[in-house]
Amino acid sequence: MNSRNSEGSHASVPEENRSTKISRTSLPRSNGGQPHVVVIGAGMAGLMSAHTALRRAPDSRVTIVEPRPDHMLQAALPLCAVGQLSETKITRPTQSLVPRKAVLLRNSVVEVDPVRKSIMLAGGEKLSYDILIPASGIHPDYTQIDGLADAMREDNSLSSVYEPKTLGRIRAMLDRPVSGNYVFVRPNAMFKCAGAIFKIANLIDSILRAKKTRRDVHIKIYLGNSVLFPVPDYQARLEGILKSNGIEVFCNRDLIRVNHARRAFVFANRDTGGTEEIEYAMGHVVPPMKPSPWLEENPLAAKEGFRGFVPANQYGQHPQYPSVWPNGDTIAEPPIFKTGAAVHFRTRPLIDNVLRYLQDKELREEYRGTTGCMVPSGIGKAMLVLFDKTNKPRYPWLRWAGLWSANKPTWLMFKYGLPAFYWRAIVRGIV
Ligand SMILES: Cc1cc2nc3c(=O)[nH]c(=O)nc-3n(C[C@H](O)[C@H](O)[C@H](O)COP(=O)(O)OP(=O)(O)OC[C@H]3O[C@@H](n4cnc5c(N)ncnc54)[C@H](O)[C@@H]3O)c2cc1C
Repeated sequence: MNSRNSEGSHASVPEENRSTKISRTSLPRSNGGQPHVVVIGAGMAGLMSAHTALRRAPDSRVTIVEPRPDHMLQAALPLCAVGQLSETKITRPTQSLVPRKAVLLRNSVVEVDPVRKSIMLAGGEKLSYDILIPASGIHPDYTQIDGLADAMREDNSLSSVYEPKTLGRIRAMLDRPVSGNYVFVRPNAMFKCAGAIFKIANLIDSILRAKKTRRDVHIKIYLGNSVLFPVPDYQARLEGILKSNGIEVFCNRDLIRVNHARRAFVFANRDTGGTEEIEYAMGHVVPPMKPSPWLEENPLAAKEGFRGFVPANQYGQHPQYPSVWPNGDTIAEPPIFKTGAAVHFRTRPLIDNVLRYLQDKELREEYRGTTGCMVPSGIGKAMLVLFDKTNKPRYPWLRWAGLWSANKPTWLMFKYGLPAFYWRAIVRGIV
């Protein structure tokens, strides 16, 4: 058992302890009444956290800070890119998704002082908190790769499902396919949703086949990682799908430069130690990503390992600042956990621990690190990928239900079920 007296000073929680109790003396209320929960970001993690907190403790005071007027169901972006869903189906005004009892501030957080337990907004206004939930996500940083920012701006044959404004380029290409190399690239960097590159490559393959233009195109995937997918049970199946779609995969190729004048990617080949260049008729990039700017130099950010992201212990709590409970992609952990599925499985245990903490109860380690996504093998079929932090599939019986292989029910779930459930239930913390 550990007790903590002030932010920033605590006894460490031994790994083997599955629960711990925290001294309530460390919890003065910012206004002497209900604890004030401040959420940074109204993305999936921020909204789910706010809804779940208010469901579990309806008297809570919750404030959400978010600059964007609209919220997007990001998992559906690959479908939108190939014209299977319209952008209006995957976008909602942020305010319409905020819990009735919560306050939404249309603003950005620029600084957090975890010792004084206050945040500063872009206009200089300050807000104090009893509980802080940083959920400001992870964002493309095109400057990390030489030539990429210019290429994304100027080259209409280059796109990314991570950049909604380039989706029109993919649809235009599908309307008038050109022959040549269609090159999909994911560098060795931080990113979200490890499956997105396979989804968009398979969907494009399928559409080109339907248009009977596939034989003029060579689809190639270049990954900065040493393996296609880190979970052996799914790796072979994904490899099988890509192979049967005629998609070539090259691992250990780290993107170092984009030469858009020549429409060429340059890779460091970690197998040979040399560089190699490939020209593209169509290029698709998973950009390197970084946390929100307020975390640069902030005491909450990890100083090593996943630098700049917010660390959390096995209960979901910041190891140095017990009032801070990060959620979503902003947590300091590998890209494979930066998924909506991880947010879904993590949020309820996380908020339960926040409430236990506020009530001076034992914390519990209930989140098993579950993450995953649905990967289409083409239009009409998708496989379900769901695994935990030991890289073992969750719910192994799904294999016997046929969901580990590309199947129609998972496709229907991806295309129709996910958007419907997302707006009505998932983002509202109901399921
Ligand atoms: C193309 C694509 C495909 C994907 N496919 C899948 C999939 O199939 N399955 C799956 O499970 N996941 C998938 N994901 C990942 C999933 O969408 C994310 O993991 C999830 O949205 C993370 O939620 P989040 O709240 O942490 O981040 P976000 O949803 O990105 O929200 C972060 C929010 O914080 C706000 N913010 C940033 N800075 C500040 C600031 N300074 N102050 C206040 N607010 C701030 C942002 O405006 C944003 O609204 C995909 C993502 C993409 C892009």
